[in-house]
This record gives sequence, structure tokens and C-alpha cells, in this order.
Amino acid sequence: MENCLFCKFVSKEFKTEIVFENDDFIIIKDIAPKAKNHYLAIPKKHFKLLADMTADDACLLGRILKTIPTLCNLLRLENGYRLVVNQGDDAGQTVPHLHVHILSGQKMEWNPA
Ligand code: AMP
Ligand code: ZN
Repeated sequence: MENCLFCKFVSKEFKTEIVFENDDFIIIKDIAPKAKNHYLAIPKKHFKLLADMTADDACLLGRILKTIPTLCNLLRLENGYRLVVNQGDDAGQTVPHLHVHILSGQKMEWNPA
């Protein structure tokens, strides 16, 4: 997808520190962390919304979710973590390429608004 920041990270056109990569996705550090540890799991395939997913995309997302806890040491998830997927304007989605926020390293309030 042209002009997509996360596609450019995936293709390595834009350089960033990739902390994990497999065939399905990359993990990078969020540039503006909202918790002590804040990573972004970014599928290599471009789609914006869960509503846009094909059945194959759903399998892809399932594999990503299954892989995250296996990266417990790397991502420092030992004491628990939170996954967030912002969808659309009301949720404040700023990058139109689906991604999973991984937040950890501190006690978190439950404050969805
Ligand atoms: P969202 O608002 O859910 O679409 O999340 C987009 C996330 O991307 C935000 O948490 C931003 O801080 C993060 N972000 C934006 N630009 C960069 C960048 N160049 N490198 C790493 N993270 C970024
Ligand atoms: Zn993209």
C-alpha cells in the first residue's frame, strides 16, 4: 500500500528497530509510549480494519495473537500485559494499517475512554 507508514516499516523502506519478525508480522517499539513498555505488532499484509479481514487475514491475526505470549521474555510480559486494537476515528486510530498495541511493565488502570 503506497503512503502507508507501517507498510514502509514492513518493506524496510523506512528504517526502524524491529524487535521481532516472522513471516506474518513485525514488532516495533511505539514512538510515543503509553505504558512503560509499548510495542506494536504489525501484520505484513495491509488492511485497515478487522471489518476488512478475509478468512485468511483472520487466521493471520490468530497466529499473531498466539505468537505474542511466546515472546514473553523479549517483550517483558511476565507480570501481565494489555493488547489494544484501535478501530476507526472514535477509537483514535491514527495509522490505517491494522496493528495490535502491546502494553506492559506497569499496573494499568481500566480507562477505555
Ligand atoms: P493508533 O493510534 O492505534 O493507530 O496507533 C498508532 C501508533 O503508532 C501510535 O501509538 C503512535 O505513537 C505510533 N507511531 C506513529 N508513528 C510511529 C513511528 N514512526 N514509529 C513507531 N511508532 C509510531
Ligand atoms: Zn499498510
